[in-house]
Amino acid sequence: MRVLMIAPPGAGKGTQGALIAAHFDIPHIATGELLRHHVARDTELGRAVRRHLDRGELVPDQIVLDMVTEAMIAAKAAGGGYVLDGIPRNLSQARQLYQIGRELDMTADVALHLQAGDDELMRRLLARAVLEHRSDDTEDVIARRLALYHEVTAPIVDWYGERGILVSVDAMRPAEQVGREILAALEVMRALVDHVPPEARRAIDLTSLGVAFGEVRG
Ligand code: ADP
Repeated sequence: MRVLMIAPPGAGKGTQGALIAAHFDIPHIATGELLRHHVARDTELGRAVRRHLDRGELVPDQIVLDMVTEAMIAAKAAGGGYVLDGIPRNLSQARQLYQIGRELDMTADVALHLQAGDDELMRRLLARAVLEHRSDDTEDVIARRLALYHEVTAPIVDWYGERGILVSVDAMRPAEQVGREILAALEVMRALVDHVPPEARRAIDLTSLGVAFGEVRG
């Protein structure tokens, strides 16, 4: 299974990415985590990106794409599945990632879009800031990250809709409900992947199912 996630900061990419990785036994490739790891180790790459991270700005595309290409090559050796968390973040990254995927014969099967409103996201991130101490979890930097998401990341969602690989989920509910819904949708997509070409598939939109569906236990 090959999944990429598009979600605003605070929507739960990290949590749901880990769940998906465990469920399908595939590597979880989280660009923000990889970049923060470089910063923490004070590598050359870390020194090049620290200021971008601290301000909530995007790191130059090429740096992230090179880092992810390396991780995807390792994922290929480990069986070919992956869940990408944090990339693509703009249309240029989306296009280049698609090219890399084609070259490695491992383009995404599913683009998972987690939707949530800005007020809830700000609330979650400020709450998280008390527990973790990420340099970019201050109110003004969070506001910048949310603005960038709306400006350059959210517009790429339609591109995946046109490719027939989009799954949209309402991420405003508790993490376990969102997780159950994601795994159910991904299992449906998995069944289609081997039999139906992407252009003949339809996007799955679960955002209007509401709380009732999420409460069903299974
Ligand atoms: P969040 O989605 O909560 O902002 P991430 O951990 O995904 O958190 O990303 C943290 C930071 O890492 C971003 O604000 C940005 O500076 C950098 N980053 C992560 N992924 C990318 C990417 N694909 N392109 C550019 N910058 C990135």
